[in-house]
Amino acid sequence: MENKELVSLQLCFICRTESTGILLQNKNMNKPRLESKTIGLEVCDKCKKKYLSKGVLLIGMIEGLENYGKKPKTPTGNFIVIKDSAFKKIFDFEIPKGKIGFCDEKILNKIQEDSQRK
Ligand SMILES: [Zn+2]
Repeated sequence: MENKELVSLQLCFICRTESTGILLQNKNMNKPRLESKTIGLEVCDKCKKKYLSKGVLLIGMIEGLENYGKKPKTPTGNFIVIKDSAFKKIFDFEIPKGKIGFCDEKILNKIQEDSQRK
């Protein structure tokens, strides 16, 4: 591939070692990153089998810095995998497709505290 510098390896969100694919970077980017690695919001097949076969991955989100009047949500990198049954107990909606959900960091912390107490 010619434009190698425009490619970055996307790593699994859970184990952060397995690749989940290649991320193509914008050609107009000022500083293309060489052989960079990015933590993606996807999960590799190994982790899918290990964790998501029985549970749901919840990724913590916080409100980012205000940008043109909008506050985008940004993933914190904090996460928990909870059992399908626990998800249904905590949340009032269906298990998300692909079994990856995003939730407010504060709610995530609460779930983590509760799960440690058991
Ligand atoms: Zn993984």
